[in-house]
Amino acid sequence: MMRTDAAVEERVLLIFAHPDDESFGSAGLLAMLDDRDLPVVLLLATRGEAGEISSPDVGTPETLGPVREREVRQAMAIVGINDVRFLGYRDSGMAGTPENDDPRALVNAPDAELVAHLIGQIRDVRPTTVVTFGADGIYGHPDHVRIHHATMAAVRRAADDGTLAGLGEPWRIGALYFSAAPRERMLEWHELPNTPFHDMPREQVAKLGTPMSEITHWLDIRPYADRKRRVLASHRSQVGVNGPMADLPPEMTERFLATEQLRRAPLPWDSNNVATRIIDRLASDNPTEPPAAT
Ligand SMILES: [Zn+2]
Repeated sequence: MMRTDAAVEERVLLIFAHPDDESFGSAGLLAMLDDRDLPVVLLLATRGEAGEISSPDVGTPETLGPVREREVRQAMAIVGINDVRFLGYRDSGMAGTPENDDPRALVNAPDAELVAHLIGQIRDVRPTTVVTFGADGIYGHPDHVRIHHATMAAVRRAADDGTLAGLGEPWRIGALYFSAAPRERMLEWHELPNTPFHDMPREQVAKLGTPMSEITHWLDIRPYADRKRRVLASHRSQVGVNGPMADLPPEMTERFLATEQLRRAPLPWDSNNVATRIIDRLASDNPTEPPAAT
């Protein structure tokens, strides 16, 4: 039986590719959900084995997977999440790197297999809300883009009673959101001398992220800025001892810790039932546009 009525307990499932994907764009949201005692499950397709390593005393390419698993579990404990799951694929690395060719890499997973895993998880967790990447994958990482497409397919097919033997009872989510990085801000970031996009030409950056005009939800996370800092700092292998904001000018750090952005994606069964749209409610208490710069 399908149930997404008001009596259904709210539950949020985040589906991302690597440990830290959930923290950069959503740590403030996760803190807000924690303050409201809403259950949240984090599902990661990989352990981020191909990420850069901030310092050799944190890990090696051989140990990075378990190191990052530990880091994300620590990070999530700060926002009250203890249900962190892994699909067990391997990080595919940035486009054009040798990791792309590893047969265990997420980009090489057969589509039917990956989508079936996601359907099984959606039907097990029974979330009212799913948060994942948009088609942009924030900065186009092949695993981010893959997770977007697979999640789109899985959300729709999880609602089917079709012929998905062994994958649990059909489940229809109430709302789907994409974590969104404002494109205009990524372009500003690209101008900085120590930009993380140093190897990308401006024309390429101009296609990353989400244009501000397409962002549907701005969450005011200023009360949660300190928790977000701590969540991000837990990803030591990725952000280094000085933290992720070490290279950012203070005004950009402040802005980064002031809002999080989402784009709500339409679902084929969308109705006016907003009872199961926790993120709509969180945003409605908050600015629907970027808060004025202070
Ligand atoms: Zn990632």
